[in-house]
Amino acid sequence: MTKTIFRYTFIAGVSILILCALLFFGMQYTQTKDETYKALQQEAVYAEQGLMLNGIPYLETLGDVNRVTWINTDGEVLYDSMFSLPLANEKDCPEVAEALKKGEGQGIRTSESSGESTMYYARRCQDGTILRLSRPVRAMREAFMAVRPFIWILVLVLVISGILSFKIAKQIVNPINAIDLDHPEANKYPELRPLIEKIEEQKITIQEEVSSREQMRREFSANVSHELKTPLTSISGFAELMAEGEVPGDKVQEFSKDIYKESQRLIALIDDIIKLSRLDEEAEEPNWENVDLYGLSGEVLDSLRPVANKQGITLKLTGSPISINGVYQLLSEMVFNLCDNAVKYNTPGGSVTVDVSEKDDEVFLSVADTGIGIPTEHQKRVFERFYRVDKSHSKEIGGTGLGLSIVKHGAQHHGARVKLESEPGLGTKITLIFKKKAN
Ligand code: ADP
Repeated sequence: MTKTIFRYTFIAGVSILILCALLFFGMQYTQTKDETYKALQQEAVYAEQGLMLNGIPYLETLGDVNRVTWINTDGEVLYDSMFSLPLANEKDCPEVAEALKKGEGQGIRTSESSGESTMYYARRCQDGTILRLSRPVRAMREAFMAVRPFIWILVLVLVISGILSFKIAKQIVNPINAIDLDHPEANKYPELRPLIEKIEEQKITIQEEVSSREQMRREFSANVSHELKTPLTSISGFAELMAEGEVPGDKVQEFSKDIYKESQRLIALIDDIIKLSRLDEEAEEPNWENVDLYGLSGEVLDSLRPVANKQGITLKLTGSPISINGVYQLLSEMVFNLCDNAVKYNTPGGSVTVDVSEKDDEVFLSVADTGIGIPTEHQKRVFERFYRVDKSHSKEIGGTGLGLSIVKHGAQHHGARVKLESEPGLGTKITLIFKKKAN
């Protein structure tokens, strides 16, 4: 950060300096050029007067600062201070042509051989002849000479701006580095207070999150131990009685059935724990595909039909085939858990209706039953792990207490929402709301 602040402040300083220097140099260059032109113009006026009075001998006295050329109206050179006659016709030279037409003309030409630029000024005399004065333009060099004394100042300013940039960067960064998060009240800079307050808030949020996770973890372990222990204690008790020969022959089948039922409960519980921990890990699911929710719901209902028939519960599927992008296995478990609950917590002769529909950019899968319903005070908690409304009957009803947790986590995995509507004594409707273009 120090380096970045230093770099930017230094670059800003240097850029301003270079721009100022270029501006100064440009102004100096234009001024030198203007002055040369004005000098040529002035000298040409005097030269014309002398020429008109004394002729060529006057021109010969003019010295060698300027080149002086006298040209007649046909472009023939009558006199040239630098070259002896005869010289080429000058009528086509731009400044000469312009002077013949308008009274005066000017131009700058660069010699191909020497690369030096020359400024020409031509003036029409009273007798119609042209008097031309020219001089090399050294505006660049002169501008550079004018600027030269300032170069040292420029270098000095650059060094000073480097040192200042470094100090500024340090002064900005040092107080941030010096923040003592254990003693935020020791901060001397009011500008840093909002930042420190934000960090403090974040610290508290993280601490709360950590402790609530820890609490959840402890509750979960306690619940798992309890849920595992109950069927295992039964299995162990039944097996012990059978091993000691205390079970009469006609009861062996019944005891074996109980052992089988309890072990099935254990297997289902362990299966659900594994599913949940996989969802907790948010492991990358490779099997994302187009899943037809209507077809999938049909398969789930078919698998539950034997159990439902036993209790006289009617299973219905309404809506139309609609596909979403999802993980088939997980979606199937979610819909199974919802339908399984809808059957388990139903009343004899009741019904379960699964509906698949879509509206705007959302897809809805709802499972509605005409069962016992969930009292309002329990509705928020039924998605928690191992939470059951009626704990005393959970053994006979079955279930692991993890079904709705899997639904909630599965929905999160698919970017879906879960909506619960329930009326005790009337029934329950749980809706999964998927985004159509999820993932
Ligand atoms: P369980 O294995 O006990 O069914 P769930 O997580 O699936 O566990 O459900 C948690 C609790 O929510 C259940 O014990 C039950 O009390 C209540 N519940 C879930 N679905 C329904 C429903 N369709 N009707 C009434 N109560 C329900």
